[in-house]
Amino acid sequence: MIKVENLHKSFGKKEVLKGMNIEIKKGEVVVVIGPSGSGKSTFLRCLTRLEEPTKGKIFLEDVEVTDKKTDINLIRQEMGMVFQHFNLFPHLTVNENITLAPIQIKKISKDEARKISKDLLEKMGLPEKIDAYPNSLSGGQKQRIAIARALAMNPKVMLFDEATSALDPEMVGEVLQVMKDLAKAGMTMVVVTHEMNFAKEVGSRIVFMDDGVILEEGSPEKIFNNPEHKRTQDFLKRVL
Ligand code: ADP
Ligand code: MG
Repeated sequence: MIKVENLHKSFGKKEVLKGMNIEIKKGEVVVVIGPSGSGKSTFLRCLTRLEEPTKGKIFLEDVEVTDKKTDINLIRQEMGMVFQHFNLFPHLTVNENITLAPIQIKKISKDEARKISKDLLEKMGLPEKIDAYPNSLSGGQKQRIAIARALAMNPKVMLFDEATSALDPEMVGEVLQVMKDLAKAGMTMVVVTHEMNFAKEVGSRIVFMDDGVILEEGSPEKIFNNPEHKRTQDFLKRVL
C-alpha cells in the first residue's frame, strides 16, 4: 500500500529524517514509537507532502507521491490524517464538518453526504451529535468527529499523529476504541502514539524511530519483550 525509499528531510541545515525505508501492506496497523524529536510527525507529514521530502521516494500503491506531477490533493483524499488537535471548523455543525470535503471535492449531493455522515457517526457512537456544534462537545467527542471527517472521504490509509495526547485521561479510551474498531475492520493505518497498550494489542508491527531513522522494527512481542538495541530498551524502560 505504501512504500518509502530512502526518505530524507532537512529543515535548513538540520537533517530530521536521515534515510527511512519502510513498506506497509494493505490492512497492516503500523505503530510508530520513539523519543520526542525523533522525527515521527515529520515522517507522517512527508507521506502526504505536508512537508516536502528533501530526498527519497514515497509510493501509494503504484502512484509516486513524491513525483512533482502527482496531484497531491488526490493523494490527500486517499490518506486520511488525524492530528493531536482536532481542527474542526467551529462555525460548522458536526454534519457540515464531516460532509464539507465530500460535497466540495467528490461532488456528492448533500442528502447522500448526510447519509454517509450519519453512518459514520453511528460507528463513532455519536449519532445524536449530527447537528451539534463543536464547542458543545468534549475533547474525546471532537476527536471522534475528526476521525469520522477523515473517513468520510473513504481513504485507503489512515494516519494518526498522537491522536489521544491532548485528551483528558478519561477520554483516551473512547478514541482508542474507535481506532481499534477501524483496525479490526481492515483499515491500513500508521499510528504514532505513546499508548503502549494500544501498540501491543492492535499493532501488526511496531516501528521504533530514533534520531531520524528506523532503528528497529518487528512484531509487538519482539519489540516489547526482546528489543535488540540499547536505545529501544532505554526508551521502553522510560515509557512502560
Ligand atoms: P516527533 O514527532 O518524533 O516528536 P518531529 O518530527 O516533530 O518529532 O520533529 C523532529 C525534529 O524536527 C525536531 O527537532 C523538531 O524541532 C524539528 N522540526 C520539526 N518541524 C520543523 C520545522 N517546521 N522547522 C524546523 N524544525 C522542525
Ligand atoms: Mg510528533
